[in-house]
Amino acid sequence: MEEYQKILLQNKAWAQDTHEYDEEYFTRLAATQTPQLLWIGCSDSRVSTGRVTDTMPGEMFVHRNIANLVVEDDINVLSVVQYAVEVLKVRHIIVCGHYGCGGVKASMSDGKSGQIAQWLSNIEDVYERHRDELDALSEARRVNRLVELNTIVQVKKLAKLDIIRRAWAADAHYPTLHGWIFDLGTGLLDEILYMAPD
Ligand SMILES: [Zn+2]
Repeated sequence: MEEYQKILLQNKAWAQDTHEYDEEYFTRLAATQTPQLLWIGCSDSRVSTGRVTDTMPGEMFVHRNIANLVVEDDINVLSVVQYAVEVLKVRHIIVCGHYGCGGVKASMSDGKSGQIAQWLSNIEDVYERHRDELDALSEARRVNRLVELNTIVQVKKLAKLDIIRRAWAADAHYPTLHGWIFDLGTGLLDEILYMAPD
């Protein structure tokens, strides 16, 4: 059986089990979504948002791209942030990087081309700004430190967006912005940056 066929079967079993456990589950799920959080994470298949946060469908609005970037002219991430803030009124926005990120690693290597090269140039900019610190590290540590710095920069970029500035002008407390790092080796999330309305 092909992998995708297995997934369709797994879905049937999950829907059936869930309905047996809670008859109203899908009725409630279909009615509305009121998530409190927006998650901006990496597309990496190992960082499964719902699984690592142990959240249920409906609890988190999610955007994922290679290396969890907030690019100021990327209409995809901007519309997700706008919808999350203005319509869903999420209270917390999490940018989650992860150690061993392939996108971050690739940004440090040669031979990239096309859209990937253009996308990863955003991380190359982060490297340039912290070149002295990063060049002094061992190779393994350098990737993970760049993961941290990249995540911090993305949160700071979020804080500068008009969408966030407007929300902060209207509300003294929310949304709060968070930089988290997921450690694939331990399964743990760590908060490395917190920003609230100033
Ligand atoms: Zn990644």
